Amino acid sequence: MLPLSFSSKLPDAGTTIFTVMSALAIEHNAVNLGQGFPDFPMNQELACLAAKAITDGYNQYAPMAGWMPLRESIAEKVDFLYSLSVDPDSEITIVPGGTCAIYCALTAILQPGDEVIVFEPAYDSYIPNILVNKAVPIKIPLSIPDFRIDWNSVKSAITEKTRAIVINTPHNPTGSILSASDLQQLSALVKGTGIYVVSDEVYEHLVFDGKQHESVLRYPELFARSFVCYSFGKVYNCTGWKLGYCISPAELTTEFRKIYQFNAFSAFTPTQVAIASFLKNHAVYLELSQQMQENRDYFINLMRATDFNLLHSSGSYFICGTYERISDEPDKDLALRLTKEAGVVTIPVSAFYQDSTEKRILRFCFSKKKETLELAVDRLIKYLGH
Ligand code: PMP
Ligand code: GLN
Repeated sequence: MLPLSFSSKLPDAGTTIFTVMSALAIEHNAVNLGQGFPDFPMNQELACLAAKAITDGYNQYAPMAGWMPLRESIAEKVDFLYSLSVDPDSEITIVPGGTCAIYCALTAILQPGDEVIVFEPAYDSYIPNILVNKAVPIKIPLSIPDFRIDWNSVKSAITEKTRAIVINTPHNPTGSILSASDLQQLSALVKGTGIYVVSDEVYEHLVFDGKQHESVLRYPELFARSFVCYSFGKVYNCTGWKLGYCISPAELTTEFRKIYQFNAFSAFTPTQVAIASFLKNHAVYLELSQQMQENRDYFINLMRATDFNLLHSSGSYFICGTYERISDEPDKDLALRLTKEAGVVTIPVSAFYQDSTEKRILRFCFSKKKETLELAVDRLIKYLGH
């Protein structure tokens, strides 16, 4: 034995629930409504542009902050959608995925002992990102079943050590969205403080029922203290491309890039070249909400034949369901049983909470072909009965 020893940076972290459940889906030949990825083809025009970028020779390092024409297209899109002028040179950084953007943002600002307010259920990377920086997650539960933020609780949780608040709209895993009033309350709470905002908006183009996405970018005062994180994987149904970006004011971007340059340094060049031109086609992303809303509604209709009680989803790829008429077992147990015995993979929402209190909510991903959704619900009905 070598005389080596170290203490784990994340002693309580296992393998992410998405990896675990997708591996089980393969093992049990189950329909995967767990991990959030589409099973339909991505836009073929964009796929061809990426292939062309490779054969055209765009195969060397992109600039650290990203391919400039892509940053310019993003700035144009931000102006078009949110009426905010951002500088592509000093305020936009392209990174390999939203996960990387969130990590770099938190790492750029956190010192040991800083407190970060997060809302649970929370996307699974936030709390480990906080812990790895030796900062302290201050967890505030979202209300059940509508998963809203109680801003009075946030106000009471703020201390002199609060360094950041992480928000996520549309929300994974619940599909809830923040309203203009939420953003205004957040803005009022942080005004005059040293609190930063990390806003995870990877599902910005998946907002249903005619509602509008309330981006931090619509609120210049809030943006002045924010890192706003996005993912092209969710925009163009190509999660495997792992391409995202962070928009933040120049001073914050400087710190963000100090971390990022020694992390990934730069992102895959051909997809940046491809999206730089494709992003100018507004119609493609403007249609996404309607398309995904149809998937949501199709799934909700199919699920009426089961005893699940689906909660409301206003955006994202996801909808949650409770199952009091089916079983009283904890969601992790039910998710495992449904995988092995019904052949359907879901995600137990307790995986998005840090404490071990049992939860009884499953998350279903509906960004799937109709046939996939039909097969999954058929299997649920056969196994659970009506
Ligand atoms: N945030 C949320 C809320 C997500 O659901 C995901 C996963 N898609 C990410 C961030 C990470 O995005 P990416 O796959 O681009 O890293
Ligand atoms: N965001 C996806 C989900 O919530 C998964 C991403 C991942 O596997 N890291 O299912």
